[in-house]
Amino acid sequence: MSATESTLAVIKEMAAAMEEHREHLTSLDAAIGDADHGTNMNRGFKAALERLEETEPAAPAEVLKAVSTALISKVGGSAGPLYGTAFLRASTALPEEVSPAAAAAALEAALSGVKQRGKAEAGEKTMVDALEPAATAAKEAAEEPGATVGGVFRAAAEAAREGAEATVPLVATKGRASYLGERSRGHQDPGAASTHLLLDAAARALEQTPQGPKGGP
Ligand code: ADP
Ligand code: MG
Repeated sequence: MSATESTLAVIKEMAAAMEEHREHLTSLDAAIGDADHGTNMNRGFKAALERLEETEPAAPAEVLKAVSTALISKVGGSAGPLYGTAFLRASTALPEEVSPAAAAAALEAALSGVKQRGKAEAGEKTMVDALEPAATAAKEAAEEPGATVGGVFRAAAEAAREGAEATVPLVATKGRASYLGERSRGHQDPGAASTHLLLDAAARALEQTPQGPKGGP
């Protein structure tokens, strides 16, 4: 399977996850936002799949760029521009063949894009609280001997899961949830939850697909 095909498989798995967990993400957003995060993400990834069908990208970076465009144009609110920026920045960091180090660099680029666009730092109860530990874990995993791209995303997903769970006791200081102040405490941030689900989907897709351009191990 080519790197482009693997990247497409990742996006398909992400889209399936957003559909499967739509209600869960929306119910998290109902508690501290406006109950649309699951619907937003599902709509955005459906649009991304349509765009990929139309544009037939020829490189991993082109796949991510098409996803970015779809998310920015089809998802309103905060999450569209934020995830759109994440995918765009990741695309600019991605070479034709994706090594473990390149995958980690793409996550790092996504993180810095989100932080810049959202003017958010870790600890503010946003998707940054999942993405930042994910990028750190990815970098560490990429430096291990025998690292694989799937392993890098698995490590990122696990760290994102812990990061998303750790948003529960936090008070939101960015985004819609910040209007609630202290009352945002005790709920998981929906964007952190979707970041975990997206990275988990990526890991799953990559663990299923043979690595390397010729389908070798
Ligand atoms: P909206 O808040 O416009 O309804 P969504 O519900 O789709 O958009 O997305 C909400 C999520 O976006 C939050 O849970 C949070 O993770 C993320 N978010 C909101 N504002 C910011 C920000 N400034 N920086 C980083 N992430 C943010
Ligand atoms: Mg919302």
